[in-house]
Amino acid sequence: MKKIEAIYCDFDGTITKEDSVNSFFEMYAPNWTESEKLWVEGKISSKENAIIQVGLLKNVSQKQFDDYINSIEIDDYFLDFVDYVKSHGIKLTILSDGFDIFIKKVLERYNLDIPYFANKLIFENGKFDIKFPYYNDKCDKKAGMCKCQKVKEKSFCYIGDGTSDLCIASKADVLFASKNLHKYCKENNIKHSHFKSFRNIIDMLEEDSLV
Ligand SMILES: [Mg+2]
Ligand SMILES: [Zn+2]
Repeated sequence: MKKIEAIYCDFDGTITKEDSVNSFFEMYAPNWTESEKLWVEGKISSKENAIIQVGLLKNVSQKQFDDYINSIEIDDYFLDFVDYVKSHGIKLTILSDGFDIFIKKVLERYNLDIPYFANKLIFENGKFDIKFPYYNDKCDKKAGMCKCQKVKEKSFCYIGDGTSDLCIASKADVLFASKNLHKYCKENNIKHSHFKSFRNIIDMLEEDSLV
């Protein structure tokens, strides 16, 4: 099998143990699941969904916001994975339809220098707003952050866990899928490898000499 030129990775529910966006809405945006359901069913776009959900965020103080971000946990083997990928000279990029600030703060906590592309969550004077710098009209899935347009390499690996990964998953040469993305790939005959943690991914990359 040919070597991979680059690795692209989802953030929420993939690098993080829980989906940090959904858990945040669960705490501070009552009724966030109503539009979430419409998005998962394909009735509204992720961009529309995010605008509705961010509009539901209520009564969040700066301290609660900071405390929440500090509580975001990552996969036990993600740091090993970053070292492994770096030692093989492979470029790693995070593509997320979640919030840039969550990613920035988590990367800072672990002193990680990994490029990331995500939606822009703004929190000022107690009010939230969201911007979509990577929205692309041509995206099959009308994702807020279109992952499929960000990839330039011919041979790339993608790692993800859910609905925000659908526009890119079937285009990856090597796909690692967990949770809902794993289920979706099985149902739709998309070639993938199932993973539970980044330990499995390191092992599979190593076994098949992909990097
Ligand atoms: Mg995810
Ligand atoms: Zn797309």
